[in-house]
Amino acid sequence: MSDARTARAEAMAGLQIPAELLPADGRFGSGPSRLRDAQVDALGSTYRDVLGTSHRQRPVKDLVARTRRGLAELFSLPEGYEVVLGNGGSTAFWDVATACLVERRSQHLAFGEFSQKFATETREAPFLEDPSVISAEPGTLASPVADPRVDAYAWPHNETSTGVMAPVRRPAGAGADQLVLVDATSAAGGVAVDVSQTDAYYFAPQKSFASDGGLWLAVLSPAAIERAARLEARGDRWVPAFLSLTTAVDNSRKDQTLNTPAVATLALLADQVEWMLAQGGLDWSDRRTRTTSGILQDWAAGREEITPFVADPAARSQVVTTLDVDEAIDATAITSVLRAHGVVDIEPYRKLGRNQLRIATFPAVPEEDVAALTAVLDHVLDHSA
Ligand SMILES: *Cc1c(COP(=O)(O)O)cnc(C)c1O
Repeated sequence: MSDARTARAEAMAGLQIPAELLPADGRFGSGPSRLRDAQVDALGSTYRDVLGTSHRQRPVKDLVARTRRGLAELFSLPEGYEVVLGNGGSTAFWDVATACLVERRSQHLAFGEFSQKFATETREAPFLEDPSVISAEPGTLASPVADPRVDAYAWPHNETSTGVMAPVRRPAGAGADQLVLVDATSAAGGVAVDVSQTDAYYFAPQKSFASDGGLWLAVLSPAAIERAARLEARGDRWVPAFLSLTTAVDNSRKDQTLNTPAVATLALLADQVEWMLAQGGLDWSDRRTRTTSGILQDWAAGREEITPFVADPAARSQVVTTLDVDEAIDATAITSVLRAHGVVDIEPYRKLGRNQLRIATFPAVPEEDVAALTAVLDHVLDHSA
């Protein structure tokens, strides 16, 4: 580290950020992410009597029913599509999809850690052929290519590790029997989408839905449900009960999960989905995250030390903004002084290893907090030079 860089990091460490500059809420993490106070308060009031009760009885099933109904409305569920859920988060859904949705061979777009992980699962599954993987450098986007040798296409709506957002459209020339599986873990609920372009639009609640982790949710097409039923019935591959999509569909139709869910997570999720609908639904969320991410991009454009990591403006995420910091400044010194003032989780994705800030603008993050964050960053950069 150069002497100037070290001196500047030391100056930052000693900074006192004026309290009036700080955002009302300092949580800008990409997941787990900020919850609204009203959700957390409701756990102790509205939901006090349902926490700690049986998930096979009406009160907890009602939480599942509200979530499924609310998501159906939020995503304008096409005819025949269903909202299905299970335990284990999006990582578990990769295994569910590997076991129940990929028939022989999948095509993956890999342009970051999360998209890479699903490709690794299908490569290691002994009953599948090696997947076709179309890779792109972190910070850039790959595009699917119609290929008659695959039976499923997979990519993330938002690659949370890099802040690259991908279009959600069936590949031109894709066959009617080829499924489109979109990992929407951080995008779902924060970005407009036409789910009829997918057969599985799956996610977990700890990102745009401001709940806790541990569940997966998937908007499934009739073709996906039919594929799972057929592959599981064939019996030529062992599908563990925990990974059976057909079992998850059967349980979801009864507003329950195969095994015990985190009831608090469901309560927080049901609350957030209904809050989003009350604000104006997905159109509202999409507008808000465009505005808040736009505040960050505009701020970056005005600072010569800051450069958007995603060079192509069309590929920049609305929900996760990644900003590279000039090498003359140690980004960890910035994130440390902010953390000491309660502004947290804007560190870059660890394995990316960049001198970077990564800031989430999920729907629960209001415009004024993002504006305050830019003022705090200005203060730190201007008072340490
Ligand atoms: C966070 C994330 C995951 C992993 O979610 P878990 O619920 O922790 O398994 C997968 N994909 C994307 C795009 C993510 O952002």
